[in-house]
Amino acid sequence: MTQHTAAATTDIDVAIVGGGMAGASLALLLAHHCPGLNIALLERHPLPDDTAALNLPSFDTRATAIAAGSLQIFDELGVWSALREYAAPITRVQVSDRGHSMSASLSAARESAASFAGMLGAVVENAALGPLLYRALENTGVRVLAPAEVADVVMTAAGAQLSWRPAGAETATAESLQARLLVVADGVDSPLCRRLGIATEEVAYHQHALVTTVGLQQDHGGVAFERFTERGPMALLPLPQRDGGHRAALVWTCEEGDWERVAGLSEKDFLSHLQQTFGWRAGRFVRAGQVQGYPLKLSLAREQVRRGLALVGNCAHFLHPVAGQGFNLTLRDCDALARVIGRAMSEPGADFRQSGPGELNLLEAYWRERQHDQQLTIGFSDRIPPLFASRSLLLGGLRQAGLLGLALAPALRAGFARQAAGLAL
Ligand SMILES: Cc1cc2nc3c(=O)[nH]c(=O)nc-3n(C[C@H](O)[C@H](O)[C@H](O)COP(=O)(O)OP(=O)(O)OC[C@H]3O[C@@H](n4cnc5c(N)ncnc54)[C@H](O)[C@@H]3O)c2cc1C
Repeated sequence: MTQHTAAATTDIDVAIVGGGMAGASLALLLAHHCPGLNIALLERHPLPDDTAALNLPSFDTRATAIAAGSLQIFDELGVWSALREYAAPITRVQVSDRGHSMSASLSAARESAASFAGMLGAVVENAALGPLLYRALENTGVRVLAPAEVADVVMTAAGAQLSWRPAGAETATAESLQARLLVVADGVDSPLCRRLGIATEEVAYHQHALVTTVGLQQDHGGVAFERFTERGPMALLPLPQRDGGHRAALVWTCEEGDWERVAGLSEKDFLSHLQQTFGWRAGRFVRAGQVQGYPLKLSLAREQVRRGLALVGNCAHFLHPVAGQGFNLTLRDCDALARVIGRAMSEPGADFRQSGPGELNLLEAYWRERQHDQQLTIGFSDRIPPLFASRSLLLGGLRQAGLLGLALAPALRAGFARQAAGLAL
């Protein structure tokens, strides 16, 4: 992969700081919807020539459930045709509650309005997604600066003045970049947001998500399982076969104080604990890979736009991963931002060059467009885990009634499916 270096001071239209899932996707969407826009993507980690060895936090050993709405976006970008080779289709989602026989399921065949190409979604390993996004970026005019760590930002009348240097090269002279729009996509606990005085609201979940790849004795049949237990929710997502073996990605939410013990179990004990907690709906678990733990909280930025500034990805909203909504919500945000800017650029008579992509009216229009979906999706991800984790009889009754409703009521099921697919707007 080509790495680029910048001249001492450069003027550009949009600077995106952070080349993770959010930043790389936004760069692609801007290049697609806003041809002619001068875009730079700055990432602190180096990008190796061999994209398969991409070593960024977003593209680690996790897998991402990509909802039907997001697949549509990737299809429009021309990324889906390459991605499908690495993706396992989700044709059914089964939701169940440990200790109760009731379960509900959504199927692509039944919920066709919430499907894309016969799928409710698809699961892709992040380590495969990253290289694909970066390969797609090579075919755009986006300037990728890496390794480039943004050390300082000053908002100016013309937008934002960034200074950056190669990560770890504190003695190197900082280079500077003047951007009409700065998009911060530097992840959760964003130092740039702090520097800009943007506060966050946080709710601690006191939980960790344990993530690993498990081997299954039988084919998963394209089923994604959401299993709620009294100690936290679990998701088991279908993965493509490897060397003829059936595989699934496990996201197992554990309470604080318990996750280190579970993560430290031998493979045999881990599998037996998993089998006991998850049950037999996916058959026998036969292997477990390395287990990684992620601390969970809800973190929401109090502002997402200002003149010359927008936030996307984890720095804007960091969600509980159980419903697999974080990246999907981010992709819809990025799609909307790129479309709003693209529309403004193509308005007849608009002097876009003068007003620029950082204009407050434009960014507020984007924010108004996104508020409803963000509120729904964040509320959905935040309220479901405690509801299902509660040992209260009343809540236990309510969630069984909820599952019953999902199992029996076509309208409720269709609404739920469309929300989960990111097509509910
Ligand atoms: C366990 C788990 C499972 C998940 N599963 C799903 C799922 O199935 N479906 C779904 O939709 N979502 C899922 N998510 C959410 C998804 O992972 C996030 O939406 C995604 O990681 C967003 O990444 P990001 O680009 O905002 O942040 P990051 O991945 O943190 O990327 C930020 C980037 O910015 C760079 N950076 C930071 N500071 C600077 C700087 N000063 N200068 C330059 N570069 C900088 C970093 O190096 C990094 O590459 C899951 C999350 C977790 C924790």
